[in-house]
Amino acid sequence: MPYLNTTAVESGVTSLAAAFPTADLIELPEPTFEGRTCHALRIGTHDGQPKPAVVLIGGVHAREWGSCEILLNFAADLLHAHAGGTGLAYGGTSFTSAQVRTILEKLDVVVFPLVNPDGRRYSQTVVPLWRPNRNPAQSGGNPAAVGVDINRNYDHLFDFRTAFHPLAPVRVSDDPADPDQVYQGPEPFSEPETRNVRRLLDHFVRTRWFVDVHSYSQKMLYVWGDDQNQSADPAMNFRNPLFDGKRGLKDDQLYAEFVEERDADDSAVLAERFCEALKGVRGKEYTPQPAFDLYPTCGTSDDYTYARHILSGQDEEKILAFTVEWGTDFHPPWAEMKKIVLDVDAGLVQFCLTALA
Ligand SMILES: [Zn+2]
Repeated sequence: MPYLNTTAVESGVTSLAAAFPTADLIELPEPTFEGRTCHALRIGTHDGQPKPAVVLIGGVHAREWGSCEILLNFAADLLHAHAGGTGLAYGGTSFTSAQVRTILEKLDVVVFPLVNPDGRRYSQTVVPLWRPNRNPAQSGGNPAAVGVDINRNYDHLFDFRTAFHPLAPVRVSDDPADPDQVYQGPEPFSEPETRNVRRLLDHFVRTRWFVDVHSYSQKMLYVWGDDQNQSADPAMNFRNPLFDGKRGLKDDQLYAEFVEERDADDSAVLAERFCEALKGVRGKEYTPQPAFDLYPTCGTSDDYTYARHILSGQDEEKILAFTVEWGTDFHPPWAEMKKIVLDVDAGLVQFCLTALA
């Protein structure tokens, strides 16, 4: 199988850290249910103090295999180009050596390619379309009820039965045996994988951008995921119980989620530039759009990450948060996946440059 297995992804991360002085290995604190320890990389020059950080994660959903390759290659490309003093070329999109140097000097680029190693192993060896982790705690012995959807386990509108309109097609479940594999877990951050991601955000206190790499649908999504965006009424927001039971419907007058206009604009620009650079590689059209336009969600990484500065009373840095949905199926033939890696990596390099602009 040309896709990397769990062990190969991990050794890719550790060997990059060993090979390049501009890459630090980060061991995540929480082992998975099957006892695997996860690692991330911090990429960037060392100048004694933390720089603004972009945190990129992947391998959250087990069956979305190529996300790990996308992030490992992204890390390797930046490190090789910086060490060699060269630029980067992805088909028709290219970057100069000065742009590469700017990214490594001005940013902490934090790359966590495999959040859910247990799930990836299970998907690659037993059930190819497996999505969640492998935690059996809520399964009651039913093999079909093993696993929690990590990207429903973050603390954002977790009590969806209270928060959402009864008719909202919110894509989440409180049933461990849910056939769509979107079981949210017993409580927010019940899973080690989710807590590892939170730990990265806590550790890199100057994180200002976050990207969660998923498949599929050729989109670059930004907040919010629970309802349509509005910038007119700050009181209409996810913390206000007046709007319980009203969220999650499309084109309705009941509710839309507040986002500051500047954040909505900045998010749209970052997503648009990502898609433009990606298209330059070989012409693939990705769509930049708010996550809700795909389908309503709760407990996702992007909404949680953006909401952190609101929940902290603005004590924490504001993080603009995104979800890439690459490709048109979970397991493209490897020859096509290699091209998708180049597409998305060109978009991610441009994302970093746009963030710095
Ligand atoms: Zn996914």
